Amino acid sequence: MHGFPGMPAPLARVVETLSGLPGIGPKTALRLGLSLLRKPASEVEEMAAALVDLHRALGFCERCGCFAEQGHCSMCDNVRRERSVICVVEQPVDVLMLERSGHFSGLYHVLHGRLSPVDGVGPDDLRLAALDARVADGGVRELILATSATVDGEATAHFIARRYQGAGVKVSRIARGVPEGGELEYMDEFTLGRALDQRVAWETSP
Ligand SMILES: [Zn+2]
Repeated sequence: MHGFPGMPAPLARVVETLSGLPGIGPKTALRLGLSLLRKPASEVEEMAAALVDLHRALGFCERCGCFAEQGHCSMCDNVRRERSVICVVEQPVDVLMLERSGHFSGLYHVLHGRLSPVDGVGPDDLRLAALDARVADGGVRELILATSATVDGEATAHFIARRYQGAGVKVSRIARGVPEGGELEYMDEFTLGRALDQRVAWETSP
């Protein structure tokens, strides 16, 4: 731990742990640590239990890769959802954003990443074999590519569109209302809903 000489070890440990989280620097971590110290012990124990549970109780759907408490997620198991349309996204959090937009009632497929030569992420590192299997099972009419509007996200969309050329599946891409470099995570639900509604068939994509 650097920067706070003389800090008591238990507090230093908390500060160091929290500093590893996105957007949390040492000063913010210290403020959070001190605020935790001021809370009643029972409240902090409740928080600690929630953190432990996050790992123990939450995993990913075997089929689509979304968050799931066990086996399949609630969307894959929901018979009221449109099963012939699959929206392909990079991360499970993208599913939460698309669901919040309320513009999609099909199923999802989470790649758990995007192609990135710089970071050494290739096709085998994404959940593409699982998507192949779903398409091969039949009944899939359309794949909506909702990867991010980053260079790597676009490359991933191209790769997937080519992969399913001639597979008897319509491939479309969400509209470019998406700001350049935009991760779905940072888009408001209105923009995201519109991008979905105005999706374009891959053949006519620029
Ligand atoms: Zn699922």
